Parts: sequence; structure tokens; C-alpha cells
Amino acid sequence: MRDRYDAEAAQQAVAQWGAAVGEALALRTYTSRLLGADPALVLHGGGNTSVKLRRTDVYGDEVDVCCVKGSGWDLATIEPKGHPAVRLDGARRLLEVPNLSDEDMVSTLRSLLLDQEAPNPSIEALLHAFLPATFVDHSHADAILVLTNHADARSRVAAALGPDVVCLDYVKPGFDLAVAAAALLRANPRARAMVLLSHGLFTWGETAEESYRTHIALVQAAEDWIARQPASRPAALDDAVVAAAQRRVGRVAAALRGTLVRGGLRALLDARTDPELLALLADPRLDRWVEAGPITPDHVIRTKPLACVARVPNDGDDEATRVALEDALDRYRQAYVRYFEAHVAGRGLVALDPLPRVVLVPGVGLFGVGSNPAAAGIAADIGVRTLAVKATADAVGGFVGLPPSDLFEVEYWSLEQAKLGKSKPKPLEGKVALITGGAGAIGVGIAGQLLAAGAVVALADQDALALARAERAVGPSKGLMTVHVDVTSPEATAAAFDTVAAKFGGVDIVVPNAGIAHVAPVIELDADAWRRVLDVNASGVFLTTREAARWLTLQGCGGDIVIISSKNVFGPGEGFGAYSASKAAAHQLGRVAALELAQHGIRVNMVNPDAVFAQGAIPSGLWAAVGPDRARVRGLRAEDLPAFYRERNLLRAEVTGAHVGAAVVFFASGVTPTTGAALPVDGGVATAFPR
Ligand code: ZN
Repeated sequence: MRDRYDAEAAQQAVAQWGAAVGEALALRTYTSRLLGADPALVLHGGGNTSVKLRRTDVYGDEVDVCCVKGSGWDLATIEPKGHPAVRLDGARRLLEVPNLSDEDMVSTLRSLLLDQEAPNPSIEALLHAFLPATFVDHSHADAILVLTNHADARSRVAAALGPDVVCLDYVKPGFDLAVAAAALLRANPRARAMVLLSHGLFTWGETAEESYRTHIALVQAAEDWIARQPASRPAALDDAVVAAAQRRVGRVAAALRGTLVRGGLRALLDARTDPELLALLADPRLDRWVEAGPITPDHVIRTKPLACVARVPNDGDDEATRVALEDALDRYRQAYVRYFEAHVAGRGLVALDPLPRVVLVPGVGLFGVGSNPAAAGIAADIGVRTLAVKATADAVGGFVGLPPSDLFEVEYWSLEQAKLGKSKPKPLEGKVALITGGAGAIGVGIAGQLLAAGAVVALADQDALALARAERAVGPSKGLMTVHVDVTSPEATAAAFDTVAAKFGGVDIVVPNAGIAHVAPVIELDADAWRRVLDVNASGVFLTTREAARWLTLQGCGGDIVIISSKNVFGPGEGFGAYSASKAAAHQLGRVAALELAQHGIRVNMVNPDAVFAQGAIPSGLWAAVGPDRARVRGLRAEDLPAFYRERNLLRAEVTGAHVGAAVVFFASGVTPTTGAALPVDGGVATAFPR
């Protein structure tokens, strides 16, 4: 356990924030970030900290306040305003109240805030307020949990941390825990720290440094104790096993995600396949580890009480893999329903969906499940950490988790239930889109619209520099990735889909958009140029569409292919033979694919834009290449082309990549039962009305 406290950095924090919020809160912010910087102490919003100080309220009165971490803040990135000030006397008077519901606790704490705009204080705020020390630090440190999730936790804590650390039996976070902690400390006024069994560690001090350093010293002592125990670690795997897992992860992810979607959970995956994790998944004790539940109760909100273990056959057969995954998820669902019914006890609680947030597939990897990339990543991080902690705990004497009844109370506590159904998901939330020609003006325009509609997006292109520029133009977003592809290569196309599946868990919306052009009258049209245009615009769309069909049918949950066709298909232009013919071929292929794929719930539609010259700062590569020739055919200067195209349509509209993207979103949203159709995005060109 690294002690990250640095006197110089602490002084910088005081220099940065001290003038505005005072030295104490500046240092509180600094050491809170130190706790947050170490995933062995806190993960993703876990843990909380506080400082007691004096503030002047609007009456000009000096008041004692406890500035405690607000909900929604992460210790790793917290700022001074992430510790809202609660009036201390009002909070402490709650000690005299015989009992208090979670709702009353939250609303009372809100009423005690000096700033009503501040976020709700942490669920553990009262515990912080009841402790006498100025600075209080709380984490769910791995090493502490290894000690405490055990039948003999108290004597292990005493042996590892010394006699001046007091232990409190598990109590659900909230008012009761705060009261019990305050009573324990009143009975042991000289205690140096408090361990909450099956939950975490509280330390305190008169300075930020003292509270933090006590914390680190105790976690280090726990780590030292663990290191002194005889231990049996999982055997390392050889490289071939790891390579095989990494080869399979994309297809297994797609099959798994398809099964989740068919089961009613539209979500993304975050796959982990590192060698240490694969060794844990291969360990014969895996099922025992999983059955023991989370390592600290607040993980239950992110991961549910249990992970799902799915064993798939080694031979890699898609059908056998699908059956095995369906089986595992079915068993998980039934067990979850039994767990809910066993503990709901007639209270009018709303059952959460019965599908897992962490799926372990030995020989392949660990999958976090979430409605967006952040949620899937958090579930995966916690899943990986949980396995590692349990393996360590098991090696030094076993791991005893909380009983399901306690986990249920956290998973279904009223404050979490109150949040249910309050947010309306975006139309494409949980969907994955892949756009070829993703680095161009149209690709960037489509990506922006799909992201805004809630999808995650893979920009696929063969030009790495242009991809980097496109990523900057669209991003930054956790829901955006880039992938190299040459659409004329079947292998490269297959590899690009596999990369996207390994990253997000599959693909739902495929936009074959890569295209090139060449200007020449038929009589002069060079045969090689003709073949090049056909290769990208027709064969490229064919290969992308074929690969899309393969992945979408593997997943078995429908999907959308939206081919970027052209106004030229209905209204060809002279000098543009290769381009118009190639687009017509792709368009007709799309209609045939619509006929064939409808039985799988896969829609295939076409968007027919007229010339798109740019999307924001991204110019069209196609028009940069052919604009001058195209202008010559029309007897214009190249810079006059955008105006020419605008003036020739009925609405006098300049067509942008974002307009094309809006049409893609319309089809991909599935709001109309439409397939095999073409939607012009051309401002209205009468000679190119679809027919
Ligand atoms: Zn906690």
C-alpha cells in the first residue's frame, strides 16, 4: 500500500483552493483524491471522507459544519464543492432520535445543508458527523475486506491491526450504522480506527495527513498480515490458453449479449481477458468464490449479489456456445427470482430485471454488463477486483460473504427503489453502431447523430490519420472507438467486426458508407478506375453487409443495416458512370438483403444523399478528389459546387453529414416497420424521386 501523501503537493492544494474554501477543505480535497487514486482502497464512487470546520451562514453567524462527500462525486476526482457543508449540531441531534427512515434521514440532511443547491450528503454522512475527530476517512480497502469477510474476523483484525482498532458487526449503511458506530466509539474513546465487518475501514485524525496516514498504515498492516499467511495461489496459464481466449472473446461476447437482449436486457458489454483473470476463472474454486457474493455491500447496486458463471464448450462451436449461454442465464434468472421472492416479504418493492451484471466465462473472459460503457466498465472493474480479493481471502483461510438477506436490503433499499423508472433512456441506448468510411464527412455526421441518440459508435476506416482527426471531431466520448478496415478485404472486414464485438459486446447498427468516385465519360472511362470504384462502392458494401448479416444472426436479436446509397441511383449524372453504377449495385444488393434478412428481424434500408461537401471542419475526401473534375463537367469552378447543388434542389438546402446521420437514426430507431426502403436526403431533387 503506497503512502501517496506529499507535503509539497498538499501545499499546492492549499494554494489552489485555500483562498476560496479555507485550508482545511483544500487539504480534505487533496487527501480524498489520494484515497480515490488507489483502486485497492476504493472503486468508482466508493468510500467517503469528511472534515468538520466553521462557516459563516447568511445571518453572519459562525456555525459548526461537517463537510462530507456528496453523492455522485468520485473521490479520485473530487473538488471542494464535492463536500457539501451540513450543520453539525442539527446532524448530531439526530443521535437522540429513536429511529429514522432512510427517506427522513436524507431529507433532514438536505434541510441542514448550508447550500440547498449542493448534492445530497453521502448515505454515511451521519456516521461522519457523529465521530468527534476533525477529519474522517472511509474506504472499502481490499486487504481489510480479506480480513473481515471471515468467521473469525475479530481475532484476525486484532492480530493484524492491533488492539486499538475496534470492530463493529455488519449493519446496513444508514442511520442505524451511524448510531452503532457512535456508541462503539463512546465506549472505546481511545480507539485509533474502526473496522466495519464485511464493509470497510474508518480512520480519523486532527489533520488530513494524520487521518490519511493512519488509513494507509492500517491497510499496510492488513497486507502484511496477509503476506505472512501460507497461501495457495491459482496456477498461471500458458500463453496458448490466453491467446485462445483472446481470439474467442468477440464471438462469445456477441452471443452472450444477444442472449441478454433476447432476455429483455438491452446492454453493452465490457470484456476482460488478462492472463491473471483467466487464471482465476480456470481455478476449480471459482464457483465457491462466486457464491460468496460481493466483497462490500455497496457493490451490490452495480453488480447484483452474484455473478453468473457460464461454461461454454472449448471447441468454439457457435451453436453449442449459444445453448450453454442461454442455459447459464436461465439458471441465473430463476435463482434471482427465487432470491427476490424469498426476501420481498410482502413489501411493495419493484423487482429489478433478473439478469446478471457480471458474467464469467472460463477460458474466455469476464464480461461487465451495463446500459452504457461507463456502467459496463464499472461492473467489469468490480467483478475483476472481487475475484482477486476472494482468491486471496480463500488462500488465507476462506471468504465468508454477507447472507442474501443483508444483500437484498442494500439492493432494494428505498432510496435506490425511488430512482427506478425516473430516467427515460435515449432511443438507441445500449446499441452499438459500426460505420465504414467513418473518417469522412458523412461518417462523422452519422457518428454524431448516433451518439446523440444514445448509441455507441465504431468509426471504421482505412486511413489512420483521418480516423484520428474524425475521433477528435466527434469525441471525446466513452462510447466512441476507431477501428482499421479495408472494406475490399473479407478478412479485414471480419476482423473489424470482431474488434468491435470484443470492445462493446456486438453490433446492432451497421452503416456501409465507405465510397470513392471517379469522373470520366463512359467512352473514356479507364477499366482499372471502373474496377476500383466498383471494388469499394459495390464489393465493399457487399462484404460489409455480408459480415453484418453474419454477426446479427449470430446474436439473434435483429438489427439494422443502413446503406449509404446516393441520389445518383435514381437520378444519375453524366461523367459519373462508375460511381452511379456502383451505387446502384449496392442499392440493389440492399434490397435483396432486405428480402433475405427480414426473417431474422434484420432491416435493411438505404439513405440517398445528394452531394455532402463537409461536416463541420471535416471536408469530404470524395469531393476533394472529384470536385474539380465534376465542376468542369458542369462548366463551374470547384468552389461554386456547393452553391450549385444547393440551388438545384427544391428546398434550396445544403446537405450535411448530420442530415444523413439523422436519416440513419430514423431507420435504426425502428419507429416504423420499414425495410427495403430508400430515404432521399437531397433537399428534394425531382428527377431523383425514388421509384
Ligand atoms: Zn462504506
